[in-house]
Amino acid sequence: MDHVVYQSTRSSGIPITASQAILRGLADDSGLYVPDHIPSLDIPFETLAGMSYQETALEVMRRLLSDYTEDELADCIAKAYDCKFDTEVIAPLVYADNAYYLELFHGKTIAFKDMALSILPHLMIAAARKNHDDREIVILTATSGDTGKAALAGFADVPGTKIIVFYPKDGVSPIQKRQMVTQTGENTCVIGIEGNFDDAQTGVKQIFTDPAMREKLDAHGCRFSSANSINIGRLVPQIVYYVYAYAKLVEHGRIQAGEPVNFAVPTGNFGNILAAFYASRMGIPVHRLLCASNTNRVLYDFFATGTYDRRRPFVVTSSPSMDILVSSNLERLIYHITGENPEQNASYMRALREQGAYTITPAMRERLSLFRGGYATEEETSEEIHALYEETGYVIDPHTAVASSVYRRYRKETGDETPTVIASTASPFKFESTVMHALGRETDMDDLALADELSRLAGVPVPEAVSSLRGARIRHTRVCGRDEMAGEVCRFLGLG
Ligand SMILES: *Cc1c(COP(=O)(O)O)cnc(C)c1O
Repeated sequence: MDHVVYQSTRSSGIPITASQAILRGLADDSGLYVPDHIPSLDIPFETLAGMSYQETALEVMRRLLSDYTEDELADCIAKAYDCKFDTEVIAPLVYADNAYYLELFHGKTIAFKDMALSILPHLMIAAARKNHDDREIVILTATSGDTGKAALAGFADVPGTKIIVFYPKDGVSPIQKRQMVTQTGENTCVIGIEGNFDDAQTGVKQIFTDPAMREKLDAHGCRFSSANSINIGRLVPQIVYYVYAYAKLVEHGRIQAGEPVNFAVPTGNFGNILAAFYASRMGIPVHRLLCASNTNRVLYDFFATGTYDRRRPFVVTSSPSMDILVSSNLERLIYHITGENPEQNASYMRALREQGAYTITPAMRERLSLFRGGYATEEETSEEIHALYEETGYVIDPHTAVASSVYRRYRKETGDETPTVIASTASPFKFESTVMHALGRETDMDDLALADELSRLAGVPVPEAVSSLRGARIRHTRVCGRDEMAGEVCRFLGLG
């Protein structure tokens, strides 16, 4: 099989292997690792149609993570996609009102981050072993809510790893906070900080890049690593479910093998939709990729005008995981549409950093023809949840509703009847207050009572991730100031 290697989006240095890219996360020049070419899936759709999620994962991952053996990948996949998911099919498709909702929230923390974060720890451990690095891996993460819990759940009790998560003490939802402070696992550490998400993020970056800290860690037999969404160890596992969704539509006779589909994706950091783009480059027939934004519609404007401009107010919305003005993974797409030109990409990224904006060339815009941008306002998002429920009884979360609303408008405006899959990125139970409000129901009760009400309305049981919070023991109570983060890391790791 052809061998895929990885290089930075910002300079043409010596390429590295997939396992090295997973260990490093970010390139030294601050670029993102990209595959030197996208391998073709070259398996008949009829064959793919008969495969389980795990089998599909193996076929996709062995082509992109070339230096892992099949045994290593099969082992990682078996450990990741097991009974932690509450359904054997891992990512079910639900048909409602002319669209297929691809439910990516059946993992431990009921958001789609689980799809990648349940396998990343195993890919990292295998990568360390392959590269003869026997230091303990210490994951350091700042979170605004979803990523922290999914990373904790993924790394908890994985031998050879420790994980430390910092969250803004007063900046996450009550359920999100409760999910984190009750996290079990001897190797986990959760700390609230007196500050906002940016403070947490800045503090983590400082610890990462502090040479003295690195030396201390090294002497102690540890190394830092990162679980954030720019790691290709998160991107590659996300390609799997697009291939799988397509194959299941074929299997169930909803489409002919080879017939194109659309994917509509609620987008923040651009990781999820980029995985759909890679799936299409591997051979999945795609007519359109609908990139759905909320009121922070920087990506919509980019696809409409060719100018990416982050100079605008940041708006807090009901789909907080999409409240983002700098979508880091877009850099990989920009790199590809320059014709894989790292210097040109680097100059756009410099402009973004220094001036807050950049404009791509007309030739580059032509290479974006697969994409359509769209956005939904807060009102449209709420209406979408309400209308879909009234028509079909199916309840979706606010992030999914953004994509669903964008898709409905697109279909009406273009008349495009291509079968469409909407990435459903969170369980409605994770954002139950917003959802119940959209449904016009009473919300003045505690989280757990609200979950019971939602369960009754939607006709689905309260997910384990929520019900297990009842009476769960609080295990993490530490809070620190912004300049005490390094000290907390040393304390947890037992460094002098
Ligand atoms: C992270 C997240 C998104 C955004 O995904 P990106 O890969 O960052 O574009 C959308 N919805 C939910 C629920 C999320 O947690």
